[in-house]
Amino acid sequence: MNLSVLCKEAGFSEAFVLPVSPYTDWTRHRNDGAFHTNADFIRDDPAAAYPWANACLICVWAYTPFDDTSVVPAYYIESNRAYHAMKALLQKLNKNGIRAERAETPYRTQLLQAGIGTRMDNQLWYYAPYGTFTVLWGAMLALPEPVSYTPPHNNEPVCDHCGRCEKVCFGALHEGTFDWRHCIRAYMENQPLPNEYLPKLSAFSGCERCQFACPQNPIERIPVPDEIRLALDPVEIVKGNSKAALALLGKNRKKPLLRQAIVLCANRKRTEALPYLLAWKEKDDGTLETELNYAISVLQFEQNMVQYR
Ligand code: SF4
Ligand code: SF4
Repeated sequence: MNLSVLCKEAGFSEAFVLPVSPYTDWTRHRNDGAFHTNADFIRDDPAAAYPWANACLICVWAYTPFDDTSVVPAYYIESNRAYHAMKALLQKLNKNGIRAERAETPYRTQLLQAGIGTRMDNQLWYYAPYGTFTVLWGAMLALPEPVSYTPPHNNEPVCDHCGRCEKVCFGALHEGTFDWRHCIRAYMENQPLPNEYLPKLSAFSGCERCQFACPQNPIERIPVPDEIRLALDPVEIVKGNSKAALALLGKNRKKPLLRQAIVLCANRKRTEALPYLLAWKEKDDGTLETELNYAISVLQFEQNMVQYR
């Protein structure tokens, strides 16, 4: 059984098999408060969390981003596809007699510590030829033989600190340092968006401005396929038609999807959403108050303006 071939058959572009090692830097960073709360599930020390494993498998799913008019960054669609590919791969490994479980470990940190790829100023992981347009998934393995590992030659620093990512970002890169608390992606779970970010939300699940601005990234972009554009129409989602969108993004996105759809109806001036937003307001227990108040006021203003045009 060739592990690399199995990973490629599953759809991954690259796969790295690394020895299990402790991650003291990660633990220190977490203790310093450097990571957001969504990272709480990540294990500090894989050797202690998975004592049966003798290897970490980290798979790279590369993708071509959608153009910047898209209603969703391609990352989130691809992340869901890669998740299902990893599930199928783990089943195959188990069938071949190899114990394999999804790893709840810091994939990016593991790769960097192994000398694979580099970290950019926007804190993203870069690996040629894909740039930062990748999704990472990992697994812990019990292999018949211990792993010996030689770092590949793909860890040259490529970030020349040109500052373009900082200029286009509306929050996270400020005063010369990156602070995740200001990146819009830190608010893409089911929590209210800070007021100052409501008008900035241009797509479901955040933005990719810093990646698009980076001159080191590949320049190819593709238009969002119609199937995805229609499934993620924010008006359809506030109407309650979210089944197709959840099939693309993952069932766990249901609550954030509605929250963001409400804001996107406003930012895309979709006044036809108003009756549905007012209906949501009637039954809301306060959970969606920030987004509903914002969207209703923007769209009512827009509707009044239309009458005077
Ligand atoms: S994803 Fe958007 S908000 Fe976050 S750092 Fe990049 S440009 Fe800034
Ligand atoms: S835009 Fe410039 S500073 Fe930012 S990550 Fe790319 S090369 Fe580095």
